[in-house]
Amino acid sequence: DEIKASVLKHKAEHDPLTGLINREAFNQIKEVLSDTAEPVAYLIIDIDFFKSVNDKYGHPTGDLVLKKIADILGEQFRNTDYVARIGGDEFAVIMTKYGDTPEIIIQRKIETINRMLQNTGDGLPKVSLSVGVAISTMGYNVKLEEQADKALYHVKQGGRCNCSFYTLERA
Ligand code: GH3
Ligand code: MG
Repeated sequence: DEIKASVLKHKAEHDPLTGLINREAFNQIKEVLSDTAEPVAYLIIDIDFFKSVNDKYGHPTGDLVLKKIADILGEQFRNTDYVARIGGDEFAVIMTKYGDTPEIIIQRKIETINRMLQNTGDGLPKVSLSVGVAISTMGYNVKLEEQADKALYHVKQGGRCNCSFYTLERA
């Protein structure tokens, strides 16, 4: 029964396709990290032109691409970060305890990931990610999500396959 309960709990908290934590579990993490003294970087990640990947190669291939991206995100972030699938082609990451230069570290990570996604050695089509980031020194708050969303919008407008940080000028 204990095993059954933990299997059910795992099912409730994870996305079946990618194995990442799902939106509901991610929302709970946000709540735990709300208004704490913890530094938090919030990333919203959206696949570029993913609809056309499905249209061109079929939905099953699209699913494999989603899994590949989930695996790469899981590898590239630390196990103290939270990586979630929050929608169809949308992922989010919360990084805690970031160092002195989170912008540089995040920018490099996204460049690495986008480079890996250009590698077609596995037979999957090339894709890229657009990423919006907002940073807080006082834990998570709902503003952070809005700011990351604005930064993501900026990346999509500016040609995609990139990472952008929320700044006040862009508010
Ligand atoms: P943009 O660069 O502006 O984000 O373009 P886009 O085509 O990625 O944007 P849009 O939001 O229109 O498309 C998201 C697509 O994600 C729509 C749907 O075909 C696909 N999608 C959503 N969930 C799944 C899934 O579970 N599996 C697969 N294969 N595709 C999915
Ligand atoms: Mg998309």
